[in-house]
Amino acid sequence: MNLGLDIDGTITDDPQFFSKICREVLRGGEVHIVSSRSPEALQETIKELADLGITYTTVHLIARISEAQIICPHAGLDWYQRHQWLKVDYALANGLTHFVDDDPKVLSLFNRFSPSIAAINVNSREILLKYLR
Ligand SMILES: [Mg+2]
Repeated sequence: MNLGLDIDGTITDDPQFFSKICREVLRGGEVHIVSSRSPEALQETIKELADLGITYTTVHLIARISEAQIICPHAGLDWYQRHQWLKVDYALANGLTHFVDDDPKVLSLFNRFSPSIAAINVNSREILLKYLR
C-alpha cells in the first residue's frame, strides 16, 4: 500500500490510530503526508508529526491557493477545488494507492480525477485495517 494522509482533521483526529497504521504500512509500502498547510509550516509540521508518533516516507505541503489557480488545468473547478486538486495531482504522480481525508470535497475530487486511488473518509478509517490484512 502507498498511503496518502491528510493532517488536519485526519491524523489529528486520531493520532494513535494513524501512528499504528503508518508503522504497518511502512513494513512494505510508503506513507505520504499530504497537506494544504502553507509551505512555511513545514518545519513545524515535521515536529508536530514526530510528537504525534507519526512515521512516514515523505511530507508534501501543496502549493499555495494562488499558485494552484495557475497549476490546475481544470477550468471548470472553483478556486477551492483547484487548490485541493493538487492533492490528487500529487497522489497520481507519486503512485499512491489509498488516500485518507476528512474533507468530502477532497474525496470527491479523488473519485472524479483518480478513481483508481481508494479515497477514504477519515470516519471510515477502520477500513484501512482490512486493506492491511
Ligand atoms: Mg483535513
